[in-house]
Amino acid sequence: MKNGVAFFGMGNMGLPMAKNLAGGFSLRVFDPSESARSRAAEAGLTALAPRDFDADGGWDAIFTMLPDARAVEDLLLGQNGDGILHRVAGTDGGGRGGRGKGEGGRRKGGSLFADFSTTGAESARRVAGVAGLCGVEFLDAPVSGGVAGAALGKLSFMAGGAAEVLERARPYLERMGGAIFHAGPAGSGQAAKMCNNMLLSTLMIGTCEALALGAANGLDAGVLSEIMRRSSGGNWVLEVYNPWPGVKPDSAASRGYAGGFLVDLMLKDSDLAMEMARASGVATPLGSLANQIYRMHQRDGWGRKDFSSALEFIRGGGGR
Ligand code: NAD
Repeated sequence: MKNGVAFFGMGNMGLPMAKNLAGGFSLRVFDPSESARSRAAEAGLTALAPRDFDADGGWDAIFTMLPDARAVEDLLLGQNGDGILHRVAGTDGGGRGGRGKGEGGRRKGGSLFADFSTTGAESARRVAGVAGLCGVEFLDAPVSGGVAGAALGKLSFMAGGAAEVLERARPYLERMGGAIFHAGPAGSGQAAKMCNNMLLSTLMIGTCEALALGAANGLDAGVLSEIMRRSSGGNWVLEVYNPWPGVKPDSAASRGYAGGFLVDLMLKDSDLAMEMARASGVATPLGSLANQIYRMHQRDGWGRKDFSSALEFIRGGGGR
């Protein structure tokens, strides 16, 4: 060993995270999208297509920041036990002297896998189960803090998996995040992320409603934002993610809701939270309403815009 870190997924989140990681570790990044690779290369990173990943490379750590559970499972597990998890562990029958299929037991010192994507607890447990069989150390470690948090190295990581595996991951996570939590065993990081994002979906819509109500009654959105931020309505959305265009010059709202955290991704998380609520028999009436609002907003053509564009749904901004 070792080849350093392989980081898959150079999108809105992965690229700024990888840039911070590159300050402390040797790194190669992978993305099937040519434009994502060009952006990574412009940032000084060595960017390759996933097909050029060398499973025999002796990687210290392999990180993923992909759109959803399907992308993560396709990459890590593959179709017939030929995902990169098997290939790195040498359990894919590729003859690299691995421990053989189904041997199980964690192999300390092998490549550490951590997935930062939001995939849901069920998928994370499935990947962790296969990792266990392959003798690979795996963490589900989804993040919160948005693109701005990723750029500043101030993400919150909520990790599911063995505590000692989190300790092994900690030096890497510390370069990308300001808060690192051990949520519990495999899948717990994802479960915590679902709770957080269900709350965020309702906070965003509630904040949009309050601002729309104020503006329709002659209040300046910036002044009202500041009043509420410092009063009992204060919340993270008002603090760092104001949905009203122009109130925060660096917000997604102030650049036509481009980039940021897409409505498609918020709805994906909200759907996962609704599944979790159904499976555990917990009533989440506000979460369900937010889920429906984001579904209608997506249907109106806003899927590829930032989730703070819910303001346009509330104001009746119409389809795109
Ligand atoms: P994105 O769509 O901008 O980026 C995903 C990237 O993954 C794309 O560049 C895509 O080409 C790449 N990709 C797909 N398959 C791949 C593969 N097999 N190998 C390598 N790369 C592959 O998404 P994002 O906004 O960066 O979000 C990534 C994850 O983080 C999602 O699960 C999302 O829910 C979560 N998340 C996003 C935010 C946010 O504010 N954007 C915040 C917290 C969590």
